[in-house]
Amino acid sequence: MNIQPTASHFIDGQYVEDTTGAPIPVICQMSEEVIATVHAATPAIIEQALASAKRAQTAWAAMSGTERGRVLRRAADIMRARNEELSILETNDTGKPLQETRVADATSGADALEYFGGLAGSLTGEHIQLGDDFVYTRREPLGVCVGIGAWNYPTQIACWKGAPALACGNAMIFKPSETTPLCALKIAEILHEAGAPAGIYNVVQGMGDVGQALITDPRVAKVSLTGSVPTGRKVYAAAAAGMRHVTMELGGKSPLVIFDDADLENAVSGAILGNFYSSGQVCSNGTRVFVQKGIKDAFLARMTERLADVKMGDPLDESVNFGPMVSARQRDIVEGFIAKGIAEGATLITGGKRAGDKGYFLEPTVFADVTDDMTIARDEIFGPVMSVLDFETEAEALTRANATEFGLAAGVFTSDLTRAHRMVAGFEAGTCYINTYNLAPVEAPFGGSKQSGVGRENSKAAIEHYTQLKGVYVAMGDVEAPF
Ligand code: NAD
Repeated sequence: MNIQPTASHFIDGQYVEDTTGAPIPVICQMSEEVIATVHAATPAIIEQALASAKRAQTAWAAMSGTERGRVLRRAADIMRARNEELSILETNDTGKPLQETRVADATSGADALEYFGGLAGSLTGEHIQLGDDFVYTRREPLGVCVGIGAWNYPTQIACWKGAPALACGNAMIFKPSETTPLCALKIAEILHEAGAPAGIYNVVQGMGDVGQALITDPRVAKVSLTGSVPTGRKVYAAAAAGMRHVTMELGGKSPLVIFDDADLENAVSGAILGNFYSSGQVCSNGTRVFVQKGIKDAFLARMTERLADVKMGDPLDESVNFGPMVSARQRDIVEGFIAKGIAEGATLITGGKRAGDKGYFLEPTVFADVTDDMTIARDEIFGPVMSVLDFETEAEALTRANATEFGLAAGVFTSDLTRAHRMVAGFEAGTCYINTYNLAPVEAPFGGSKQSGVGRENSKAAIEHYTQLKGVYVAMGDVEAPF
């Protein structure tokens, strides 16, 4: 299937090409063949994107919120109508099974456009009475915002950043991950078709240097990154030099604590969602699965049984529920962690090997008897590797769950209501789950604490991160001065 986009970039309402930029191949995770090529943005392309976003933003901000919202909601409708086509593109970009992308990617992107489209008309400041005088606040856009994406959810990330930015009256320049450059182009195209003025949502391709060029430009007011912690440090530092606003959605090594009294089937389902969905390439995954000693054997036995239902194969085959890794590089990184797990003495319960003759497939892998100091319990793996750790008491589980530099997500499975709430109150994590795992509806805030990030995406909280308040003091009487 030829999915070569019309051109590499989408700027000022149209596809733009500059083949002098370094070629970036898009490789099919199943056939290992190049299925498309885009070109990294040259300085001239970056300049076009910045200039057009800057030009467009003022008029966009001057429109009423209801008008802006209408554009976003129209874009949501188009996305839903084209869900099949967008899901196939997402599958081609990432290797995730069509079974997943049909329900998780364009649909969640459309949710974000619809939700923030709905909020756009009700963004207000406040009135503060001070005797006869008063202050009012204006909630104003930041200006030109840069979004930089990771490769695991290219459609969703492009929308999670674009929807609140545009709803608040900003323009966005989005740089997708070089590993999955295709989907964001479609979002730009759809927004334009829905009535977004030219320049309001531009997409440029490239590696980290293109990201750096964008975020250090004086015309840029904010950067929102989804990526790893080391990249986050670099992007945050570059933004700080220009005193720019940031949202950092970074990596994790989240704990999932399963108590003896948990519903076993639900706990196993939660651990599957938190370790093997998208072949484990999800930032909020609960990869440190703390299982209380009384339920450990039953948990491992049932997990092994359930994994027999994994069906690997061509991600475009509707019956396949487990796809390849996004790239050979990512497969090799994950294999390295599996080898470390074995070398450091964890018990390999199932998986651990490549699968198939072709394609970047890795079996879903479960390690038991993992201890807190092992590499597989400390580092983010970003692949289908679950580490099961034993524990005895609630206090012990909480202390060990929090003993990490990350703080993206955390979950608990128990039938003890008060214990569940005690645990989430104690978790040092931005996104918590009780008796489920890894759901991220647009209505709920999503984001991390500690090294996992700053700021929140989704929910009304995102509005705070794409606007600034202007306070206006209004005097109703004479001005008193000392002389
Ligand atoms: P990455 O950090 O390698 O790259 C992320 C993006 O940053 C890419 O677009 C890349 O080109 C760009 N980039 C790299 N160096 C840069 C620089 N110096 N300046 C500006 N931009 C730069 O991450 P990845 O491998 O694409 O994605 C996996 C990581 O993303 C994992 O750590 C995962 O946990 C994280 N992630 C987090 C969330 C979240 O919401 N918290 C969601 C998905 C993925």
